[in-house]
Amino acid sequence: MAELQRQYLKAMGIDVWQRRDLPVVEVPQSQPVTVPQVSESAAIIANSEPSTAPTADVSTMEWGALQRAVSTCERCSLHSTRTQTVFGVGDKQASLMIIGEAPGGDEDRQGEPFVGRAGQLLNEMLRAIGFKRDQVYIANILKCRPPHNRDPKVDEVNCCDPYLKRQITLVQPAAVLAVGRIAAQNLLKSSERIGVLRGREHQLPGTKIPLIATYHPAYLLRSPIEKRKAWQDLQQVHALITDKI
Ligand code: SF4
Repeated sequence: MAELQRQYLKAMGIDVWQRRDLPVVEVPQSQPVTVPQVSESAAIIANSEPSTAPTADVSTMEWGALQRAVSTCERCSLHSTRTQTVFGVGDKQASLMIIGEAPGGDEDRQGEPFVGRAGQLLNEMLRAIGFKRDQVYIANILKCRPPHNRDPKVDEVNCCDPYLKRQITLVQPAAVLAVGRIAAQNLLKSSERIGVLRGREHQLPGTKIPLIATYHPAYLLRSPIEKRKAWQDLQQVHALITDKI
């Protein structure tokens, strides 16, 4: 078994089996890989959708203006129930962009995506393929929490979409990892189940950016049997990025 895989499985809580007649291998702390530079082939996302942009032209905003626009956004009804907006975190020139669904309770309180137990598992998953959390860029489809963590509504996704599109354009990642069914379906404009969408390479519509879909860490906490499939997805996205170094 490859050392990287051993580290990942251990971090995710999957039992590592080893023959008794072999010496026990100590698992060292994983070392982050060198983060590749922005790929020239990562095309800027196309602006082919009907305009749902807020009054100001989001598609030309730089990071500061974009973050300010999100923080005061009232484009959809979710602004009235949020504690705060959850913009996104990480390396703004990351080769890997993680896109999830929407803030949950912890994220709404802390203003950061993927915190809490699911966030910790995501961090372990990233570390297993050589990334620290601050070496990727993490964002969500929605920047405000839907009440009681219900699924996002179509009009909410459409209202918030220009912000995510602009984030992707600014980051220009070499690959996107769509985390969970909602993220994968919305990014790929598909109604397929996550079990169907994962396990193969897609392209983010309107771009040349490769996209891999995988299970949400919150789901993996409930269904640890699926962690092995998530590991395959991570290996796939890791290969996509390292191919571009
Ligand atoms: S979810 Fe997006 S569009 Fe809706 S209020 Fe929040 S930032 Fe604005």
